[in-house]
Amino acid sequence: MFADLRGKHALVTGAGRGIGRACAIGLAEAGAIVTLVSRSEDELQEVASAIQQRHGTAHIHEADVTQKDEVEDVVAAAHRRGSLDVTVNSAGINRPGPTVELSDEAWNEVMAVNLTGTFFMCRAVARHLLEYGGAGRIVNISSQMGSVGYPGRAAYCASKHAVDGLTKALAVEWAPHGIAVNSVAPTFIETPLTATMLADETFREDVLRRIPLGRLGNLDEVVAPVLFLASDASSLITGHVLLADGGWVAW
Ligand code: NAD
Repeated sequence: MFADLRGKHALVTGAGRGIGRACAIGLAEAGAIVTLVSRSEDELQEVASAIQQRHGTAHIHEADVTQKDEVEDVVAAAHRRGSLDVTVNSAGINRPGPTVELSDEAWNEVMAVNLTGTFFMCRAVARHLLEYGGAGRIVNISSQMGSVGYPGRAAYCASKHAVDGLTKALAVEWAPHGIAVNSVAPTFIETPLTATMLADETFREDVLRRIPLGRLGNLDEVVAPVLFLASDASSLITGHVLLADGGWVAW
């Protein structure tokens, strides 16, 4: 185990499915007690059971990260169980399609979940850490789309570029207080979020053509950099965007 998180407390948003679920299980396997946050209680129950079957400890909170009061309540409740050493912001959505057809609602929804939700969570966690003098490590799940453009992804790309900007700004502001803030920026990973788009053969071929490694990523390949940035192994690293993109951005 390269990340030893025994005795640590981690909170994961978007923990019900996909990357958030995998990160929550990975953090628990590394020894952390995990607080799971998402909009769907059923999904959270399933993830908590998976963690308990691995002899880990998980607490669940149904909350919408776009709702400031819900975020603050969840963080306060989590903090009562122990200082939040690690926070992983994985809640995210996409509304792909031609930009001239993108509705105001879809634009606002993507920004609200991907950017404002991440901001609400970072701010709520930092308020507690600053008040109680605790150190912490925050990992925002961005995307390679935070570094490049792609057709039909105006809102998603804008939101993820902004998440990386937020990560850097918070990192420099909170470094003196012992709070590290980094992003992990994956390429395409097969999850419920991408299942429909990757089922389109033309789209899939275009994606694969752009990844020098010639394949999609898998969940373990996102969990590994998250565990690295969540652990003391990355003690000198803050304000960094760690691309797990198979070389897409290097092309
Ligand atoms: P997913 O759809 O499989 O899971 C998203 C999770 O976020 C779900 O548990 C959902 O309930 C939760 N969620 C959505 N909106 C929420 C809200 N308002 N409040 C609380 N929870 C909410 O998605 P995924 O593929 O696991 O993506 C997770 C993150 O990784 C996202 O930020 C996404 O942008 C990013 N990402 C995904 C890929 C990929 O290829 N799958 C690639 C790069 C980045």
